[in-house]
Amino acid sequence: MITRTPIAVHCEEVEPEAPVFDTPGDWQQQLRDVIRDPAELCRHLGLDVEWSSGARRGHDLFPVRVPLAYLSRIRRGDPNDPLLRQVLPLGAEGDDVRGYVDDPLEERDHTPRPGLIHKYPGRALLIASPTCAINCRYCFRRHFPYADNAPSMREWERTLDYLRADDSIQEAILSGGDPLASPDRRMAALVERLDAIPHLKRLRIHTRLPVVIPDRVDDALLEWLGGSRLQKVMVLHINHAQEIDEAVVAACVRLKAAGVTLLNQSVLLRGINDDVDTLAALSERLFEAGILPYYLHVLDPVSGAAHFDVPDDEARDLVDALRQRLAGFLMPRLVREVPGERSKTPL
Ligand code: SF4
Repeated sequence: MITRTPIAVHCEEVEPEAPVFDTPGDWQQQLRDVIRDPAELCRHLGLDVEWSSGARRGHDLFPVRVPLAYLSRIRRGDPNDPLLRQVLPLGAEGDDVRGYVDDPLEERDHTPRPGLIHKYPGRALLIASPTCAINCRYCFRRHFPYADNAPSMREWERTLDYLRADDSIQEAILSGGDPLASPDRRMAALVERLDAIPHLKRLRIHTRLPVVIPDRVDDALLEWLGGSRLQKVMVLHINHAQEIDEAVVAACVRLKAAGVTLLNQSVLLRGINDDVDTLAALSERLFEAGILPYYLHVLDPVSGAAHFDVPDDEARDLVDALRQRLAGFLMPRLVREVPGERSKTPL
């Protein structure tokens, strides 16, 4: 049986309400101002954490990054806050667990060009940015060799030639890192080139930025995104209802007004959303924000993240219980990504 990983932590006297952190400046300023020091993160939240060597190693391998807009939704003085647990390195990250590896989806075997992953028929994925606004401790790409997949503009043309030459590809997926961490000028240039590929029908963007820095959804983004001839789908990544505040809702309203279909994928995470009430509240809150629940992923076995795992039997029981509570359109599909399979595998 897996138990919750304890955090060595002492709480100071805390204020009853979480303070609202100022998020001055535009999204790029907020991106520069992210918290990068785990001790500073804890200081902001009134937590006094004893750092184990595993947690330090985790931070060295995959550094803490937390935007202030996200920080403002974390409860002060609560070491088990479900948003904090997504971003705070723990000692368990240093555990060497059998079956947990650096490249759990074997993506390195499916990169025909730098910055391009082509695994599934009909769609291809572009690593449009090597960075994220937030570093999620369970991320399956936490060891991804971004340095080898950051093409120059000239290399991008060769990568796009791959898409131009294969008319079975109807959908371009922008991923990363987080593609929306890229400047608008760069994104506009990329989307303009994708628009010009006649057999492409859809543009899908996988991003967490409208959630963690809602100001990212600004006029400049809506101009290049709304101007594309492609059908636009944005797959957000939200694991807990507490991540959706009014600023996130407002960003979603703007995206929908620009013709973007909003979907969500979550990861089932021990100690964060592994109970029926939390999953039901997430689906309800997503729908209120205009986002359809799409996938609930079981954890990809990436090294450093084993403490987040929820066993398959328990995951199925949770989803069965959720089905008793929710309307069908609020139900995410429980899936696993299996290396070598040509689509996600339903559990
Ligand atoms: S935002 Fe997405 S890609 Fe970036 S660390 Fe989090 S899960 Fe991984």
